[in-house]
Amino acid sequence: MQPTTKLPKVGTTIFTVMSQLAVEHQAVNLGQGFPDFSVPVFLVEALGRAVREGKNQYAPMTGIPALRQAIAAKTARCYGRVVNADSEITVTGGGSEAIFDALLALVRSGDEVIVLDPCYDCYEPAIDLAGARAVHVPLDPVDFSVDWEKVRVAISPRTRMLMINTPHNPSGAMFTADDVATLTGLLRGTDIILLSDEVYEHIVFDGRRHESMLRYPELAERTVVVSSFGKTYHCTGWKMGYCIAPSALSAEIRKVHQYNNFCNFAPAQWAFAEMIEQHPEHYEGLGEFYESKRDRFRAQLEGTHFQPLPVPGGYFQLVNYSAISDLPDAEFCRWLTTEKGVAAIPLSPFYESPPAGQRLARLCFAKNESTLDAAIERLARI
Ligand code: GLN
Repeated sequence: MQPTTKLPKVGTTIFTVMSQLAVEHQAVNLGQGFPDFSVPVFLVEALGRAVREGKNQYAPMTGIPALRQAIAAKTARCYGRVVNADSEITVTGGGSEAIFDALLALVRSGDEVIVLDPCYDCYEPAIDLAGARAVHVPLDPVDFSVDWEKVRVAISPRTRMLMINTPHNPSGAMFTADDVATLTGLLRGTDIILLSDEVYEHIVFDGRRHESMLRYPELAERTVVVSSFGKTYHCTGWKMGYCIAPSALSAEIRKVHQYNNFCNFAPAQWAFAEMIEQHPEHYEGLGEFYESKRDRFRAQLEGTHFQPLPVPGGYFQLVNYSAISDLPDAEFCRWLTTEKGVAAIPLSPFYESPPAGQRLARLCFAKNESTLDAAIERLARI
C-alpha cells in the first residue's frame, strides 16, 4: 500500500544520510553534531548506581522531582529566573521532543509559525504536522543576524508562534541584548508564543553572555525555552532534555508529552539530578572547554583552502569552500565525504530557499584532537 504522505517535503535527515555515508566511506565524521569524547565519569557512575539501586520503573510523567528541582535551581543561578519545578519544567526525550510537543500542543491548524532560515531541520515538519504553515524569514547571509524589520513584516494576524535559536545551529550566531530588546517590543501587545531553542546555551565563547529568554520576565511569560542534556553533558545518544514554560503553556505541552513519550529513561534522570547539583563546574566550564577546541581547529584550518567563518557559540564551524569548488553544497559535501574522506553537513537543508551561490559547509568540532587532526590532514590535501 502506498500511503498518502503527510510530509511530502521530508526524506531522511541530512544528519543520518551523512553519517551513513561517512561509515560507508570510512570518512572522518565532522557532519552530524555529536561529541566523540567521554561522558563525565561522575555522570556515568551516577547512572550505573541508579540502575543498580532499582530506579528502573516509570518516572513521573513530567520528570522526577529531584531533577526538576535541580533544573529550577540551575535556572535561577544561571538566568536569575525562579521557575516552579512542579508546573513549569517538563523533562523530555531530548530537545527535539520538546519542540514537537510544543508545536503539536500550542499551534493550531491554519496558524502561521515564523522560522528564521537557516533553521534546524525538525522545525518545519513539526509545524506541518500541527497543520500550520511555516513562514520563512531569512537571516543575514553573512553573519546570520536577525533582520527584525523582516520579522515584523512577516507577522500577521495568523502568527501563532515565532521560533528562535541562540546559539544558532548551523552558524553559531548569538542573540545580543539589542536583539532581545527589539524582539520584546515586536511581540508586546500580541499573543504570539515564542519558542526559544537554547540547546547550545553553555557553549559560548570570547566572554559573550548567552541571552536566554529566561533572563527577561516580559518575554519569559510567553516563551517555551528548550534545553538539552545531550549537548551539555556529551551524551547526545541518551536523548534527554527539557523545556521550561509558564504553567499554562506547560500544561498544554504535557498533554502531548504524556502520550508521545510519557516519561524519559528514569535512571538518567537521577544521574542528571546529581550531576547538576554536585558539579556545576561542568556547565560553567563548557564554554572554555569548547573555546580551546574551536581555536585549535580554526588555527589548523588556516593551513587549508577552507575559509572559516566566525563562531560566537555552539560546536559547529562554518567554512567557505569557494576557493576549492563551485559545486552546490549538497554535492560538495557528498564529494568531500566519498572522495576526500571528511563528512560535513551542507547548509541548504536548513533553508526553504538557500541564498544563490552560497558555498558553505558545517563541520563539527566537538571531537577529540586526534579526530580533528585526522580530518585536517585530509582537508589540507584538497
Ligand atoms: N543536532 C544534530 C546536528 O545538528 C543532529 C541530531 C540528529 O541527527 N537528529 O548535527
